[in-house]
Amino acid sequence: MSAHALFERLDAGLAAIDRAHLRRHRRVVSTPCQPHLRADGRDVLAFASNDYLGLAAHPAVVDALVDGARRYGAGSGASHLISGHSQAHAQLEEALAAFMSPHLIDARALYFCTGYMANLATISALADKHADIFSEALNHASLIDGARLSRARTHVYPHGDVAALAALLEASTAETKLIVTDGVFSMDGDIAPLPQLLALAERHNAWLIVDDAHGFGVVGQNGRGVFEHFELRSPNLVIIGTLGKAAGVGGAFVAANRRVVEWLVNRARPYIFTTAAAPSQAHALLTSLALIAGDEGRERRAALQARIAQLRDSLSLTHWRHMMSPTAVQPIILGENAAALHAQAGLAEAGLWVPAIRPPTVAPGTSRLRVTLSAAHTADDVARLVTAINQLDRDWRAHAHD
Ligand SMILES: *Cc1c(COP(=O)(O)O)cnc(C)c1O
Repeated sequence: MSAHALFERLDAGLAAIDRAHLRRHRRVVSTPCQPHLRADGRDVLAFASNDYLGLAAHPAVVDALVDGARRYGAGSGASHLISGHSQAHAQLEEALAAFMSPHLIDARALYFCTGYMANLATISALADKHADIFSEALNHASLIDGARLSRARTHVYPHGDVAALAALLEASTAETKLIVTDGVFSMDGDIAPLPQLLALAERHNAWLIVDDAHGFGVVGQNGRGVFEHFELRSPNLVIIGTLGKAAGVGGAFVAANRRVVEWLVNRARPYIFTTAAAPSQAHALLTSLALIAGDEGRERRAALQARIAQLRDSLSLTHWRHMMSPTAVQPIILGENAAALHAQAGLAEAGLWVPAIRPPTVAPGTSRLRVTLSAAHTADDVARLVTAINQLDRDWRAHAHD
């Protein structure tokens, strides 16, 4: 009886989601993550993943994962603080700390199962209810949830608005202050004004917590992300990088001064109370990291930049707007949810997979196609995408009236 009422509430909620054109569906992928893949039994050319360097199916990374499983088994068996901290995790943390050390003072790194957890952990451990958090308006959901978990007062500043942030910091009397931002914004692809944010952090004795999920591996000569791009180095920096995107495997890291990492190991509940990721994953990431930092990484970043330039130079839109960015995230803004879904369906008919992104992931009225490029895409792949998008955009007025 009562259970029936519970289900009715869910049905009503899902019906409301449908009316707003906000229902989410998953597709089943039966090949590795690569540009040409099979989804729901159909061959498609995908511009949908965050595998920006094409490492998710790289033979050397896959071999390392298999080798890691043979050495260390399938699972870690426990949390890091009990008995799950494997030599593979320790080696990866050392390699990540060394890699990010140009940007930090006395760097250490901590490996997490996911970026979501790294963000929850870092913010909730560094801020308590007496702290002030200054959060960029376009921050990823996991940063927002981390701020909620901390119970600190959160002040949201408008996208890229350094002056607004400065005024908020000026007015704060909290002893602990955290400025929290994406490095590369996940749905817009632009880069945060980090030199200005860091100057404010140092002036106000605040932490600057930067989630570089979409910059790590992609941005900077050596792939160290936005910090390398701007040549930043500071004891106030807390760097979060995810390892399931450009690094092609999974998990995430926090790199910071060793005292920050020591604090997280002792205080961050999303670190402490969860089973460590499979050691094989950390072992595979040692190979990913070597690829990112080496000649092959540089070549792959150059290939990605060539695809980005090709897209920018060959799209010719009349109704829609290409938000150009220097990163792999290349949004095309359509506005209404239904319009974005219609465009997604039109591309699907042409055998292309480009996800429509709708609220709450982006602001209402800015629904978009989120094109993501990868070093694994060829010039022919991008040409096919551009032809299809240009065609749909030209036909748009006709569609809008039918
Ligand atoms: C993907 C993403 C995360 C979450 O990382 P996962 O490893 O996928 O949990 C965090 N922040 C940003 C900006 C992201 O894009």
